[in-house]
Amino acid sequence: MSRRRLTRQQKARIAAIRERRLHQAQHESDKLPARHDETPRDGIVVVRHGRSLVIADNERHLVNCQFRQNLGDIVCGDRVIWHSTGDDDKGVVTAVKDRTTLLSRPAYGGHEKPLAANLTQLVIVAAPSPPPTGYLLDQYLAAAEHFGLRAILVLNKSDLHGNEHDKLLEQFETYENIGYRVLHVSTKQHAGEEKLRSALQGESSILVGQSGVGKSSLVNMLLPDLDVQTGALSKTSGLGKHTTSSATLYFLPQDGTLIDSPGVRSFRLLIGDRAELEQGFREFAPFLGHCQFGDCRHEQEPGCALTEAVESGKIADWRLNHFRLMAQALEKT
Ligand code: GDP
Ligand code: ZN
Repeated sequence: MSRRRLTRQQKARIAAIRERRLHQAQHESDKLPARHDETPRDGIVVVRHGRSLVIADNERHLVNCQFRQNLGDIVCGDRVIWHSTGDDDKGVVTAVKDRTTLLSRPAYGGHEKPLAANLTQLVIVAAPSPPPTGYLLDQYLAAAEHFGLRAILVLNKSDLHGNEHDKLLEQFETYENIGYRVLHVSTKQHAGEEKLRSALQGESSILVGQSGVGKSSLVNMLLPDLDVQTGALSKTSGLGKHTTSSATLYFLPQDGTLIDSPGVRSFRLLIGDRAELEQGFREFAPFLGHCQFGDCRHEQEPGCALTEAVESGKIADWRLNHFRLMAQALEKT
């Protein structure tokens, strides 16, 4: 739920929309194909196109499913119960299982738009070229903490040596010191590939990072059968060539899944308030609540435990600076 408060008028409008949708869903449910088989089966949502889903069953067989709108907003990665409608690759989704995590981005009117469900890992990609801008990496890390995802950092293009690479190495050393896993990779030289594969083993991951750092190259490296998977998807969805604009779940050759789409690669962070933002910087934890003033903003206040931690070398100065910039940005929204 968004922590922004809704006006009474907004609430009434939302209630009206919900009512209309429910009505529509009840009406539309009459049009759904009948269940042929009463046996409930497990599936995972691979991609959603409007009102239809492609799901994979336990044998990774793809099925094109319809679903009732009253099931809510189903997204890529959702675990569902479905029934066959007789045709080999057609079915109806009848329930969505509880999600362990839900990645979402802010949408119009203070709502959140769900992007992907049941992820376990945010894989944050950076490179010496283009170098990370501003506090972007820290923003992704705070997002990982916010959504309850493990974060790992990939320094791609490690073949490019020079000033920018050295600067990043230093920054990533700090990330390692505060407990994040860091991987050095070069898709060009296939360096670090095995370590990255084992970090993705058994996990449900998503790659994020700014444009040009090598995310497509990484996806291609990790999924040697990408064409086969997208081919099977277009066949099942019946939509012709599979477009990668919707978040799509891919199966890694080893155990594990990778969710990818241009839209989710650059999602914006939704942090409700300052207290929540503080939780997004994990090394701040031992110092929070120890400032002289209960409502310390960790700027110029005397007796600020975070400022003191920076002075004694326990927190990197640029991490606190990035926190301050993010907190200021929060106030402007
Ligand atoms: P994306 O925008 O994050 O998906 O980045 P791309 O995968 O499209 O890569 C952007 C550019 O970086 C392309 O020209 C790639 O060939 C190049 N690139 C990707 N990985 C590496 C690498 O490990 N080393 C070098 N030198 N270039 C790379
Ligand atoms: Zn403080």
